[in-house]
Amino acid sequence: MPSHKVEPIVNETQAADNNKFQALRLQRFFLAQVNYLITYLVIGVAWAAGHYDGSAWMAFSHVLLGLLTQSVFLLLFKTGLNLRFSEPSLSNAQIAVAILLTTYMLAFSDSLRGSLILVYANILVFGIFQLSRRDLLLQAGLALVCFGSVIAFDYYSSPSSQNLTLSLVQWFILACFLGCLTITGSYIRELRERLQQRHSTLQAHQETLRGMMGQLQSLATTDSLTGLANRRYFIDEARRRMTLMRPNQTLGVALIDLDHFKRINDLYGHAAGDEVLQGFAKLATDSLREGDLVARFGGEEFVILLSNTDLDILYQCLERIRVSFAKAHFPSLPEGVNCTLSAGLSMIHQEDDLEVRLNNADQALYTAKNSGRNRCERYQPSHEKLTQA
Ligand code: GH3
Ligand code: MG
Ligand code: MG
Repeated sequence: MPSHKVEPIVNETQAADNNKFQALRLQRFFLAQVNYLITYLVIGVAWAAGHYDGSAWMAFSHVLLGLLTQSVFLLLFKTGLNLRFSEPSLSNAQIAVAILLTTYMLAFSDSLRGSLILVYANILVFGIFQLSRRDLLLQAGLALVCFGSVIAFDYYSSPSSQNLTLSLVQWFILACFLGCLTITGSYIRELRERLQQRHSTLQAHQETLRGMMGQLQSLATTDSLTGLANRRYFIDEARRRMTLMRPNQTLGVALIDLDHFKRINDLYGHAAGDEVLQGFAKLATDSLREGDLVARFGGEEFVILLSNTDLDILYQCLERIRVSFAKAHFPSLPEGVNCTLSAGLSMIHQEDDLEVRLNNADQALYTAKNSGRNRCERYQPSHEKLTQA
């Protein structure tokens, strides 16, 4: 059953991740377009300055090819079709296309060729974070083969006009440069991956630590037998609620003590006593509203805090719990043996001292015990005289 509830959450997370990555891919794509624009500008300037070997149509066709191929990439990203490829970033394809277009430009760039071979390096820089060392090497190889082909084509088409030595030196410089770039790039990529891995490990440790802190906090504030809040938590929480009270509001507090509980232990065993304590905890929790608080104060004593209440409502609530508990049957106890409880009730106002009010409830509890047990007593100042007597 729960699986159909979990699935949409997983899908939503996946969708959010996909959107984030798609946005990143598009960002990278647009960044590459800035390079293309610069290339178009260089072609224009080279052509205007007479350093472009080809015709105007050649220069124009280069720009056209650039626009065409980039439109295809943009379409793939925008339609999400790129997600169908094993490499959704299409980095290899984008870099290969850029290398081929650069080669087309270099083929006609005359004396500017020496400086324009830098464009190959610039293209490979884009792949540093995306491509594996193998792919980076393959792309560098493609650039060298392409540039080599341009040199060879030029040499064989008009051997006399070409300075083959200079071209080969250029090719050699490009090879060294791309080689260094590939090695440094792979190193940077590995470093980045290691850092990412360390970051994930650190995050996992943090999660574990947070979980342990939560467990520790829960251990420090929960009673292990009944699962109720413990005394420390109750005192802190009651103080916190008192600070949030408005002047006309009152909290109700009830101290509860199970009657003759020692006898239960003595007659039916400690395990039976534990079962009764757990049974009371469940009964009290089930009888209270969401914002009310029940805690184990210690031993067979419990405390209840009702928000926004008056003494009558508090009394009715405790009476309900008292009657239910007196009727409750516990499997470890013989048929017909029931337990009872006594309770002392007191009200807390905004300016009160919590200790004093708990003391008042305790005095009322003392009266309940003295008046025959199995009863709830509201605190009255006369109780003080009783306890002192
Ligand atoms: P009274 O009606 O006057 O409160 O009598 P009582 O027997 O309930 O009070 P007393 O203080 O004499 O005994 C409390 C008993 O509660 C003694 C103790 O062994 C038992 N008790 C305290 N904590 C636990 C517990 O966690 N499990 C069990 N089984 N018994 C506990
Ligand atoms: Mg007691
Ligand atoms: Mg008792």
